[in-house]
Amino acid sequence: MPSTSIHELAIQQIERLSRRGFQRLALPVPLENAFEQSTLARRSERLWLEGLVAIGLFNAYVLVDHLLQGGRSWLPLQLRLCIVTPLALLINLTMRWSPNKIYRETSIAGASCLIGVVHLYLESNKNAASSAYAQVGLIVAVIFVNVVMRLQFFYALSASVVMLASDLIFIKHDHFLNSSEKLLGITLAVCAISMTVIANYSTGREERLGFLMRLRSEIQSKELSFLNVELQRISSIDSLTGLANRHAYELQFAKLWSGAVSSGTCLSAIVIDIDHFKLTNDTRGHLYGDRVLVRVASLLLQGLRCKDDFAARFGGEEFVVLLPGTTEEGAAIVAERIRKLVEVAGSPALPEPGSHPRLSTVSCGGASCYPSAASCKEDLLEAADKALYQAKALGRNRVCWGELAIRQNQPSSSSRRHRISVMSDPLPLTRID
Ligand code: GH3
Ligand code: MG
Ligand code: MG
Repeated sequence: MPSTSIHELAIQQIERLSRRGFQRLALPVPLENAFEQSTLARRSERLWLEGLVAIGLFNAYVLVDHLLQGGRSWLPLQLRLCIVTPLALLINLTMRWSPNKIYRETSIAGASCLIGVVHLYLESNKNAASSAYAQVGLIVAVIFVNVVMRLQFFYALSASVVMLASDLIFIKHDHFLNSSEKLLGITLAVCAISMTVIANYSTGREERLGFLMRLRSEIQSKELSFLNVELQRISSIDSLTGLANRHAYELQFAKLWSGAVSSGTCLSAIVIDIDHFKLTNDTRGHLYGDRVLVRVASLLLQGLRCKDDFAARFGGEEFVVLLPGTTEEGAAIVAERIRKLVEVAGSPALPEPGSHPRLSTVSCGGASCYPSAASCKEDLLEAADKALYQAKALGRNRVCWGELAIRQNQPSSSSRRHRISVMSDPLPLTRID
């Protein structure tokens, strides 16, 4: 089942279990399974430990009872020590292997009923005091099942009903208690059973509510972190071209710059601008212009070869490419590859038969540098931008390279200017339309 429907189901069940009055504790199957799964180990361990304590106390009571009776009667001692105790220990031992719910709850309910019934059988009908103790013992057994072991509600209720029914039978056949003492005994047993069953129900309800609330907040925090990642992704992507947007570019540039500073490697930047794009829009419409932008963006990615190379839409019809660990020579090859790719494949076909698109081309301005703590990353972009301006001025559809102003250990002011070199001088623009 998808997590959203589990989430909805959990919310519904929280609402239901929070309502006033009696609510069925069983949850819908997937939630019940998840509840069982999440509580199984702890519950089995608790039952094992509490069971050991209970068996210990039971045997202590048996011995004290035997000694107080002056060791006269061996049958109760033998019945309890040789049958009840080993059986209870065996059932208790199986809790160590985290058995499934039905076995776990049924076996404990069964063992507790057995202890209660054996106790009634051994104590009733001997003398008045013993019959009264039989009632007290039964109440202790009920408290143990419903409050200490906290059997699941259905099993606790079933065990309580069995013990109450047994009590009614034994008390009916008791010859030492008069009718008002019998009534008192039964009233006490009914009170104890009712109160402990109510306590058991409340604990079970709280336990399930706690589980559902934890589940809800787990799902919510998972969904929230998924949405956060998604939001971050969306906020860093240009919706038209699918490339990184300006914001993502700023972050990536800062990251690559500091990476290059610490590794002492060269960082190159290429600014790419579609030539005469306004004319494309004006002659073919903005929708066609958008198709050109998408096409150029995809060609730009195709022009990159290294996994760390980064391309972004800078704004409008301008793109920027960052090439970490790439010197001027390598970066110029990438720029020329992009220029050529756009020249060859950058003009999407027009739907009207026989009509030809304007040939889309790009101009590229590049710059490279070895970033240092003293240098400024904006200078790299400025140099690439100036080279782009030069490429436009020289006739477009070409790559120009700029040189960075060196801010450190620079002897003469003349070398602080950008050097512009024309890297490619392609054929004049072809206009087909
Ligand atoms: P140049 O060769 O000098 O770069 O000329 P150009 O026409 O490309 O440059 P200009 O800056 O004059 O025009 C850029 C155009 O790009 C203007 C604007 O309408 C268009 N543009 C910017 N963003 C988009 C967009 O998302 N979709 C479309 N279709 N056009 C856009
Ligand atoms: Mg342009
Ligand atoms: Mg422009």
